[in-house]
Amino acid sequence: MKYYPLFYKLENKPCLVIGGGHIALRRATSLLTAGAVVDVQAIAICEPLKQLISASKGQLIESAFSSDSLRDDYALVVAATDQPQVNQQVADYARQRNIPLNRVDEPQQCDFIFPSIIDREPLTIAVSNSGSSPVLSKILKQRIEQFVPAAYGELASFVGEYRAQVKQEIPNMQHRADFWQRVLQGHIAEAFLAGNRQAASQKIDKALASLTEFIGQGEVYLIGAGPGDPELLTLKAFRLLQQADVVLYDRLVSPEVMALVNKTAELLYVGKRRDQHAVPQGDINQLLIDHAKRGKRVVRLKGGDPFIFGRGGEEIETLAAEAIPFQVIPGITAASGCSAYAGIPLTHRDYAQSVQFVTGQLQDGSVALNWKELIAPGKTLVFYMGLKGLPVICQGLIDNGMKEDMPCALVEKGTTPSQRVMVSTLGELPTLMREQNIASPSLFIVGDVVMLSKQLNWFNKR
Ligand code: SAH
Repeated sequence: MKYYPLFYKLENKPCLVIGGGHIALRRATSLLTAGAVVDVQAIAICEPLKQLISASKGQLIESAFSSDSLRDDYALVVAATDQPQVNQQVADYARQRNIPLNRVDEPQQCDFIFPSIIDREPLTIAVSNSGSSPVLSKILKQRIEQFVPAAYGELASFVGEYRAQVKQEIPNMQHRADFWQRVLQGHIAEAFLAGNRQAASQKIDKALASLTEFIGQGEVYLIGAGPGDPELLTLKAFRLLQQADVVLYDRLVSPEVMALVNKTAELLYVGKRRDQHAVPQGDINQLLIDHAKRGKRVVRLKGGDPFIFGRGGEEIETLAAEAIPFQVIPGITAASGCSAYAGIPLTHRDYAQSVQFVTGQLQDGSVALNWKELIAPGKTLVFYMGLKGLPVICQGLIDNGMKEDMPCALVEKGTTPSQRVMVSTLGELPTLMREQNIASPSLFIVGDVVMLSKQLNWFNKR
C-alpha cells in the first residue's frame, strides 16, 4: 500500500494553499469542509477563491511564495500553482520543515493525496488509487454512492448516540457486535432509513430491554423484482437482497435478478403456474413465518410489483397477525416495464387520458369483466395474465362496441433479451398470436397509444 488512509482532524488547524487558480480553489474548498483554517497565497487569485477565503477564517496573501511563507504551525501545505519550479520550491521548503505536502503536478512526490470523498457526515468514505487515475476514483466513488443509502450518515449519528449505553448493557464484545449487526441490517435501521426516527428509537429501547428475543427475531422483506431486466431492480431491493438469509422466489423472477442475490442465501422456489400451484399460498405464508421465527432475514421476491396482481397483501396480512416485522419494496410492474421497452406510452395527451390494469385470468372458462367500463374512450387497457383468454377478451371488447381495428399489442417476456412485441388490431390479433406461438409471460395492451410503438420502440431496434 503506497498511501495509508487516515482520517485526519483538521478542524481549526491552519493550512496553506499556494496557487490562485481553479485547482487551488478545489483544494481549499475541500479543506474548508473539514473545518481547516485555509490561507491562500498567490500573485493572482481568482475571484471565487477570493470570496471563499474572505468568508472564512483564512488569509488571502497576494504575493509570490518565498521561504518566509511557510509557518511551522501549518498542518499541511498544498502546492497548486501551474509553475513546476514554484511547486518544487514549495516542496523543498515543506520538506525542510517537515510539513506534509501535496503537489498537484507531481502525484509521485506527495506526502499525502486528496481522495474522492463521499461525505455523509459523520460517515465519510474516501477512495484513492494512489494518484494513478483521479477519474477512475471518481467513477468508483459514484458507484459506491449509488449503493450507500442517502441517510446512512444520519444513521451513523443516530446509532452513535447509543454506543456508550449499549457498551454498558452488553459488556461482551462479541454479543455487542451481534447486536449492532442486527440493528444495522434489520428493521431498526430500515425504520430509520424510511424516515421514522422515533420508531427506530423505540425499537432500540425495546431490543435492549429484551435482548435474547431481539437476537432471535427475524423479519421479512416483500420485494418487487421488476419484469425481468435486472437493472430495473430498485437500489433498495438490491441492498436487501444482499442481506437475505432465505429467499422465496417466483417463476416470474428472472435468472439475472436471482444472480444478484447474496451467494450464501438459501433459495426456495415457490413459483406458481396457471392451473398448477407449485406451493399453495397458505404454505408460502407459513414458510415466511417459520423462517422469520427462526431469526432469519427472509426475502419474498416476486415478479413486477408485489402489490399488483401479486397477492402481496395476503402474505403481509399473515405476517402482521404474527407480529413479524416486514417491509414492502415496490418493483417496476409489467405494465410499466413492457410499455417502456415496447415504445408504447400508456397515456398520451392526444390518445389516452387514463390507463387501467386488468386481470384477464379466466374463471371457470369465462372472463368476468365489466365491459362497459373497459370500452370507455380515451383509455389504455393493460391485461395481465390475459394470454389464454385473449381471444375472448378481444371478442368481448368488440361485441361491446370497441372498434375492430383498435390497435393492440402483445408483449412477450418484456424487458428481457427475448422480448417480442406483436402489434396488431383487436380483430386480427387472436389469429396472429396462434401463428406466432406466443408464450407466457405476456402482457396485452389495448388502445390508440399502441400506434406510437412504430416510432418509439427503441428496444427491439437496438
Ligand atoms: N406482480 C406482477 C404481475 C404478476 S401477474 C407485476 O407487477 O408485473 C403475472 C402476469 O404479469 C403475467 O401473466 C403477464 O401478463 C405479466 N407479466 C409479468 N412479467 C412480464 C414480462 N416480463 N413480460 C410480459 N408480461 C409480464
